[in-house]
Amino acid sequence: MRCVACKKEAKVKFIYAFCESCFIRHYEKRVRKLINKFKLIQRGDKILVAVSGGKDSLSCAEILASLRSIYKFKLAVLHIDVGVSTCTDFRTEEVIRSFCKERDIDFYIIRFKDFLGVDESVDIKELFKKTRRPICSTCGMLKRYLLNKFAREAGFNKIATGHCADDITKFFFKNWFSQNFDWIAKFKPFTPSSHPKIISRIRPLFECLEMENLAYVKFKNITIAGYSQCSYFLKKDKWDRLLKFIDEKRPDFKLNIVRGLEYIKIEVDKDRPLRECEICGEPTDRQVCSVCTFKERLSLK
Ligand code: AMP
Ligand code: ZN
Repeated sequence: MRCVACKKEAKVKFIYAFCESCFIRHYEKRVRKLINKFKLIQRGDKILVAVSGGKDSLSCAEILASLRSIYKFKLAVLHIDVGVSTCTDFRTEEVIRSFCKERDIDFYIIRFKDFLGVDESVDIKELFKKTRRPICSTCGMLKRYLLNKFAREAGFNKIATGHCADDITKFFFKNWFSQNFDWIAKFKPFTPSSHPKIISRIRPLFECLEMENLAYVKFKNITIAGYSQCSYFLKKDKWDRLLKFIDEKRPDFKLNIVRGLEYIKIEVDKDRPLRECEICGEPTDRQVCSVCTFKERLSLK
């Protein structure tokens, strides 16, 4: 197998075959093209990249770090310690901390346990099980809440995440089937703020495949954390099997889905207007936000 660009021996093939250096060049060029096309970065931006320690968010942080000198923006990393031993451990924090130190990026960490005001010995998983809400949904709700609150309070104007074409394709099908069109409408490379307290989102890896991110961190010698992906998330569901089946027949399937999503405009029935939570002041469409409701249910202050 030969590299399509330089004809040397290829190391990877996702859609096209590439050698190591041509792959890195091609991958970075594709991300830069997306950033320019959707004007994801402006001079003077303060961007907070959410890093779990996995291949996707570290690839995102690596690319953004390399672009600081060209686009002239400030970059920092936030890791949220979810406090579930099967999803994260002390090595995750260390891996991200040294990644940031080597690249001169400010590193912040916040912990679910501190926010919830519970003891170090409390098992977060057991705590979450006490509500009827699925664990993943509670975890996602808290992550989104803390990420936005932290970014705003620390003065960032954009949040970057490592969401890639695989996440978005799966998310698209799941939400289309359950008719959550308002969620799909928000899944773009750039989601502008919809409330003065909500920070805009950018997704620079919108057109990158999970396997490409893996190859990128490998070729760039970036250490990733062992447990960086939620252990519940790792359980494959029928969507993963279905999408894999299509992928085998059409390797460009996910890329075509996300590129299509970039263009379509979904008109949703007017969302309920956002206001501020009566308890914490964070934006919500209800009187009391879902995080405060959750805390009340568990009698947490
Ligand atoms: P996931 O929902 O786990 O696929 O993660 C999607 C994106 O959310 C990742 O690419 C990260 O940018 C961000 N993210 C997920 N988990 C964390 C975490 N524990 N700390 C900071 N960012 C996270
Ligand atoms: Zn609240």
